[in-house]
Order: sequence, then C-alpha cells, then structure tokens
Amino acid sequence: MFTSHIECPKCSAHYEPDQPHQLCSCGSPLLVKYDMQKVAANMHKDVVARRPPDLWRYRELLPVVNADNIVTMGEGMTPLLHLQRLGRKVGMQNLYMKDEGIIPSGSFKARGAAVGVSRAKELGVKTLAMPTNGNAGGAWALYCAKAGIEAVIVMPKDAPTIPRSECAIAGAKLYLVNGLISDAGKIVAAAIAEHQWYDASTLKEPYRIEGKKTMGLELAEQFGWTMPDVVLYPTGGGVGLIGIYKALCELKELGWVSGDLPRLVAVQATGCAPIVRAWEEGAQQSEFWNNAHTCAFGITVPKAIGDFLVLEAVYKTNGCALAVSDEDILAAESLMAKVEGAFVCPEGAACMAAAERLLAEGWIKSDERVVVLNTGCGIKYPETVECNPPLLQPGDTLNWSA
Ligand SMILES: *Cc1c(COP(=O)(O)O)cnc(C)c1O
Ligand SMILES: [Zn+2]
Repeated sequence: MFTSHIECPKCSAHYEPDQPHQLCSCGSPLLVKYDMQKVAANMHKDVVARRPPDLWRYRELLPVVNADNIVTMGEGMTPLLHLQRLGRKVGMQNLYMKDEGIIPSGSFKARGAAVGVSRAKELGVKTLAMPTNGNAGGAWALYCAKAGIEAVIVMPKDAPTIPRSECAIAGAKLYLVNGLISDAGKIVAAAIAEHQWYDASTLKEPYRIEGKKTMGLELAEQFGWTMPDVVLYPTGGGVGLIGIYKALCELKELGWVSGDLPRLVAVQATGCAPIVRAWEEGAQQSEFWNNAHTCAFGITVPKAIGDFLVLEAVYKTNGCALAVSDEDILAAESLMAKVEGAFVCPEGAACMAAAERLLAEGWIKSDERVVVLNTGCGIKYPETVECNPPLLQPGDTLNWSA
C-alpha cells in the first residue's frame, strides 16, 4: 500500500487510509496522501512505459491496495492530438487536444468511476448514491454494475438523455429531479442519512479525484515527462482541475517533472460561472450561482464543494478563469468537427472557445503548448447539433447546387 493517510486540505486533520471516509468533520473534502519515498523506490519511468495503456499504469500513485479489487474497462491513456489544422486556422502552433471522448461510457467520468468504484469495492460498500449532471451517473452506474455494487442515481430531468440510458441499462436505481444538480444533491444527502449508503457525490469521498488526476499524469508522460504551458479545463465541480494540479505536484515531488506547472484555466459558461466570478474578485471561494443554465450541461454546477481547491490551483499556477457563451461554445464545437473531424462535447468545445479568446487577449502566446481537454464525446449530445437533411423518396434525384 502506497497511501500514507487521508488528509484535510482545510484543517489538516489526518484520517486512517483503510476506513471509508466522506467529508472531514470540518466539512471540507479529503485528499489522499502517499508515502512518496516508497512510491519513488517502487515506481520507475521505464517500467511505467512498458505497462498496458490504461490509467492503472500509475498504480503506485493510486489508492487501490489489492489489485484484485480493480474494476476496469481499459480506461485511460487517451490520445493527445496535435490539432495542426485548427491551430493554423486560429494562430496557435502548438495546440493540443486530450481526447476523453473515446473512453468507456464516453466521458472522462469513467476515470473517477474506475478508481472510485474500485476503492468502494475494496472498502466493502454495498450501495452507493450520488447526484449527477448525467455523465458521472452513467459512468458510476456502469462500473458499479461490474463491481456488483448497487447504485442510486439522481439527475436533473433536463440533463442529456443518453446518461439516463446508461443508468437504466446498467440496472441502477435512477431518479430524475425537476431542478438542478444542487437540488439532486439535497435529496441524495437526505436519503444517505436515512439509509447509511456510501456517498459518492463529487468530492464527498476522496477517491474519484484520484482517478481524474491520471489525466495530469498522462499529459506529463505524453509530453515526454515535460509540462505544457497551459491546460484549459471545463469546470463544474472542478474535480479534474484539482486532480491535474495534484498529479503534477506529486510528479514534481517525485522529481519526474520540473519547472513551472502549466497555467490552469477554469473554463465555465456565462450562464453558470461561479468560479469565474470568484476569481475575478480575487476570492478564495465562490457564491451560489442563481438560475444556472448552459448547453454544456456537465459544467452546470451553481456551487462546487471544492471551489476553494479549484481557485487555489488556478492562483498557484498563475492561471485564470473565464466564461464563454453558449453561442461561442456551439460555434467551437462545429469548428472542431469541420476542421479536425473531432465531434467533441460542448464542455470540451468551451475550452476551445476560451483558448481562442485568451489568444486574442494575448494571455496565450501563439507558440505556447496549449492543451484543450475534451471531456467527452459529442455523440452523447445529439441535442447540440442542428440536423435537418432533406428527405428523399425512393427514385428522387439529388438537386445538387455547389
Ligand atoms: C462532469 C463533466 C465536466 C466537469 O467536470 P468537473 O470535474 O466536475 O469539473 C466537464 N465535462 C463533462 C463532459 C462532464 O461530464
Ligand atoms: Zn478538515
């Protein structure tokens, strides 16, 4: 076991690693800490390089103790694509996309689910519950099915419909709420208090973030154990951004990377931008965002429980936070498909829209290595694409006008 303890980033309380934990008694999310000397003695770059191309190649920096408990569908080591055509078009020589669209369940929530569910299984969890904007519910339902854990999922009725089908086909207990993820969260919290289920809500257990941090480990490895200059991340609960920051700090501690961390950019939509507003005010935490609404449904989070950790990662890396409109998101989604053949999710497209803005403002330089994180596949969001082709009858001819 490489985990040394579980630690509260707010009050520094320590917890035993072999017990189930939810939030700290002070109300903060908890983070997993590793025995870095032991990791350094057991984990080597050349060995990692020869391991299968999934996130378990970093097993010494992951919390699962017994490999028999690993619940995997081959998730991780997603492509890092150099977007040369798009880069030329917008004026960036080193524009990259890390494409999480081709991962089990079609979104990067599979990473958090793989590690979170594996650890829940190891801890003997029988039933877990969570609110979700869709993708996390779909991913956790599928991984829970494989682990033999019962999943109770509550999502907004306006969430994209494909994750519903993922929950249903996996046999999860699925509920829709006529409200936002924050409303779903309250209902789940009450049910957990009553039934003593394991709370798998965002950052209310410490292991989902360990799965998501592997994006940071992969980025470093894919860049030959160097770091890019800028990483743009579509921020809802912010788990991936906190995770990437945590991963890169761990790699620095191991001496596997050196120099400045990439400037981390928290991208939100203008219809729900609590982190952006907090960053603009120089605040350490965010305020609840009223009437949240955006087509990038995965980032419709009015108040994130880990907001202070997201903001800390942005401040410490000299990053920034910015909001883009739904119009710009949909334009970027279309542009990425037309120029790169990449059908990305609207959340991923938001990062591209943000990159273009930051380039125009001079915050990003044209030769910097910039990574846009595409967190899911566009195929999960058919409602974001307008598509009304002419309907032919058998025997009709095409009236082609060039
Ligand atoms: C959940 C989700 C996000 C936001 O992730 P957080 O870690 O909660 O900030 C972004 N994109 C997609 C596709 C998602 O499903
Ligand atoms: Zn605490």
